[in-house]
Amino acid sequence: MLQKELGLSTWEDLLLYFPYRHIDRTRLYRTTEILPEMPYVQLRGQFVSMETVGAGRKKRLVAHFTDGYGWVDCVWFNGASYLLKTLKLHHDYIIFGKPTPFNGRPNLTHPDVDEAQDMMLSRMAMQPHYSVTERMRKAGLSSRSIEHFTGTLMQRLQTPLPETLPDYLMQRLGLIGRDSALRWMHYPETARQLSDATYRMKFEELFFIQLSILRYSRDRQKRVHGLRCPKVGEMFHRFYRERLPFELTGAQKRVIREMHADMASGRQMNRLVQGDVGSGKTMVALMMMLLAVDNGYQACLMAPTEILAEQHLATLTQQLGDLPVRVELLTGTVKGKRRKAVLEGLESGDVHILIGTHAVIEDNVRFRNLGLVVIDEQHRFGVAQRARLWDKNEQVAPHVMVMTATPIPRTLAMTLYGDLDVSVIDELPPGRKPITTKHFYDERPELLYEGMNAEIRKGHQCYVVYPLVKESEKMDLKNVQEGYRHLQEVFPQYRLSMVHGQMKPAEKDAEMQKFVRGETQILVATTVIEVGVNVPNASVMVIQEAQRFGLSQLHQLRGRVGRGAEQSYCLLVTGYELSSDTRKRIQIMCDTTNGFEIAEADLKLRGPGDLEGTQQSGMAFDLHVANLARDGQIVQQARDMASWILDEDPLLERQENQVLVERMRQTRGDRIDWSNIS
Ligand code: ADP
Ligand code: MG
Repeated sequence: MLQKELGLSTWEDLLLYFPYRHIDRTRLYRTTEILPEMPYVQLRGQFVSMETVGAGRKKRLVAHFTDGYGWVDCVWFNGASYLLKTLKLHHDYIIFGKPTPFNGRPNLTHPDVDEAQDMMLSRMAMQPHYSVTERMRKAGLSSRSIEHFTGTLMQRLQTPLPETLPDYLMQRLGLIGRDSALRWMHYPETARQLSDATYRMKFEELFFIQLSILRYSRDRQKRVHGLRCPKVGEMFHRFYRERLPFELTGAQKRVIREMHADMASGRQMNRLVQGDVGSGKTMVALMMMLLAVDNGYQACLMAPTEILAEQHLATLTQQLGDLPVRVELLTGTVKGKRRKAVLEGLESGDVHILIGTHAVIEDNVRFRNLGLVVIDEQHRFGVAQRARLWDKNEQVAPHVMVMTATPIPRTLAMTLYGDLDVSVIDELPPGRKPITTKHFYDERPELLYEGMNAEIRKGHQCYVVYPLVKESEKMDLKNVQEGYRHLQEVFPQYRLSMVHGQMKPAEKDAEMQKFVRGETQILVATTVIEVGVNVPNASVMVIQEAQRFGLSQLHQLRGRVGRGAEQSYCLLVTGYELSSDTRKRIQIMCDTTNGFEIAEADLKLRGPGDLEGTQQSGMAFDLHVANLARDGQIVQQARDMASWILDEDPLLERQENQVLVERMRQTRGDRIDWSNIS
């Protein structure tokens, strides 16, 4: 049963099956002290009489209990006949349970009952509570049963459990030893012992992750050489002087400098550039590609969709103007002669910059000397696909810049993308007005329509987005189509476009283009527009069934508006009935436009395993005790310590570090595939 339900098959598994909470059982209360809001009370006294009351499902055993000061009733709905036989009247017991007021006298339903003489309160100090499944409970395996098992285990563990951290590290951080920590995780005598034990176990867990990541990435840095791109040459300078239509923001300049330093260093750059939608990542990418070209290399920009790739091509071509840089597009729709010409240009080196989709990683696409790969919105792009890009150059892997508008909280980035360096563009170009976000209800659509109408009358455009998920795809598509027809009726004076996943790419593109050119005022769509497209005239983003979107998804969608100088709006639509978590999410969206705040909140509400993108990118490990959302400080500390140790002893050769090597050897292959983490 333990194996089936909890995956526990060895004593060690049991040892590591920690309680989810402890209850302090050192204190005895008097019946007269009981208040209804107490989570539990523990009393010492005697049962004076018992009776069976009610019938059928309501049949229950009621036992009247007194400690000499007052009375409580203990109630059991099942197991009554067993208790009738075993409970002794006028005998000392200690009872423990949650008090509820009933008929003017406190009730304890299904309390724990122990003979007073068996109970050593001082040993019981903090009672562990283990989670058990419904099936276990039905089979009579309760938290109490597991407590008996772990209790037995503790008694049998005569020799101390092996230590996994070096002494000097434990001393430096004031960590307790592993043996005490493991025992106290189950049986602490005080709250202090429990928190010391928890801290030690969390630190250990996070520390070994950081140590492995850092060891892997430092080793990789030594083995993998980078192409040297020190020169800031003609194309970069001419672009900066002649073509750049605005002043770069301070954050953009800083990130360009950081990347230039990487690319000039002789190491391979592996950098994640985070920045909110509209913060100017694409502009930074263009300048880095020019830098590669100046140093005699080709560059490649990969987008997750064709629409986006085409849009990148249009913007880049326009921005480059008459600079002698040849830019080409390669997507699934580029075929025949044109495709052949592009492929030849890549091999000969005539094509300087390639913009494309997945088509770029096909085997027949060969570069003369690819120096920089820029990946836009990496969450749509699997790890394996990225790895294939590395191989496009035979001798030396190209530099890699990954751009994402999904802000990843630092602690998560440190763990998930441990060996990527991270740059943040944390400043928006001047003159942008923060988007106003409002919550509307389905039940009052008039208010929403008024809002949309007011903006469209000013000459602006409006997105209306519906959710689309695989499991309910048919229903979702129906919703979009119905929404479209309905809006046609509500706004007969306007023209509408519709884009959804079931349309052919050409059809989709045509509808999209109508909206981009301003021929239609409203675009009704599923989340296909989530990534990228840029229509500065659009000032309203309506999100239907907003409760079905995650926070970062909502934030991404919202980023589609607010690109011009005008005030923009994001209107979130839901029904009146919402869970409290959903209400919190909507509230956060209305309160802030800061992507990092939103990502932190998301992490707290949903936990890291659920965070968008982490599933696709594959969390390579499960955390057992630590929690990335709550233990950010410990993550940082683990990182600092791992880094310090590797600075001092890069190959972990010193005697005092052998315990680390041993531990890593033991856990290798366990659940962690380090090579996948980047
Ligand atoms: P991102 O890729 O981060 O979403 P983009 O690079 O597409 O952002 O930039 C969004 C818009 O802002 C584009 O129209 C771009 O030309 C413009 N832009 C970028 N950098 C600046 C800047 N420093 N000042 C003014 N406008 C900028
Ligand atoms: Mg962009």
